[in-house]
Amino acid sequence: MPVETILSVENISKSFGKIKAVNQLSFEVGKGHVFGILGPNGSGKTTTLSMLLGLIPPDHGMFSWFGQPPSNESRKRIGSVIESPNFFPYLDAVTNLKIVADIKNKPYDDVDEVLQLSGLHERRFSKFRTFSFGMRQRLALASALLGKPEVMILDEPTNGLDPQGIAQIRELISLVASRGTTILLASHLLDEVQKICNHVLVLQKGVMLFCGQVQEVLSVSDSIEMAAADMRGLTAAVKEIPGYTSYTETAGIIQVHFSTVVTPSDINAFLHQKGIILSHLSEKKRSLEQHFLELLHENP
Ligand code: ATP
Repeated sequence: MPVETILSVENISKSFGKIKAVNQLSFEVGKGHVFGILGPNGSGKTTTLSMLLGLIPPDHGMFSWFGQPPSNESRKRIGSVIESPNFFPYLDAVTNLKIVADIKNKPYDDVDEVLQLSGLHERRFSKFRTFSFGMRQRLALASALLGKPEVMILDEPTNGLDPQGIAQIRELISLVASRGTTILLASHLLDEVQKICNHVLVLQKGVMLFCGQVQEVLSVSDSIEMAAADMRGLTAAVKEIPGYTSYTETAGIIQVHFSTVVTPSDINAFLHQKGIILSHLSEKKRSLEQHFLELLHENP
């Protein structure tokens, strides 16, 4: 069944003076996707999210939320954490969340649930000023979850956190995603996108370099390690495998690169037909980091 499109972006651009912060960006986000916008500092991630949240207008292009032009109504279906959390320091978590609920015109019903979700329930009556940086970040996420938004927009959600804080935020995002909430997340951390997101858009200097499934990126141009008693026969035969591009040999093992997706079972079947019996066969997936660095290198 086709996935419902939640967000459709067509050719949006935004300049600040001479700086083209976002340059003709187009993409779609499907319902339930965890969509990462990945790019180095200054690549236009925050500008993109700010436009999508209606905080700044695009110079050109358009976008639609839930199949409709952006409006106050569509905005109410979206929760976001864009800037550093700002709460009243001398008020406790519950009171702060009730104030946010009042501002958003949402009932207090969810306050207890979002505190549970964010792991802050035990500290719900502690003053905000006593919260650690990680707890503040989780309270920001909790406040964005008030009113059960269908979409969550998060800008660098783990910035500045220690490893434990990062793990807690990632767990929280995954939990929210598992409930069917669509998530749009900007990050300069490849590892973060690889761990949390199922779709990724790579931005550089406001220009989209890649958009697709994380799995797709990871399976592009895999290399496959192989060895056989008959290495000479093997090196001759691999060159005939459709999609073969090159190989390198180290310590009796060859690492073979392909331009298309080739599975180990395809290779086994192909080489078996050629009379080559493999003694070693293992797939080497490239990390998103390698792919990302290559993309940036190819588009300096
Ligand atoms: P970071 O990871 O550092 O937050 P980013 O990918 O979110 O970066 P943006 O904050 O969107 O990038 O910035 C993109 C470009 O636009 C940068 O060159 C930035 O200096 C510029 N820019 C963003 N906002 C403004 C503004 N209000 N006025 C002038 N230039 C701006």
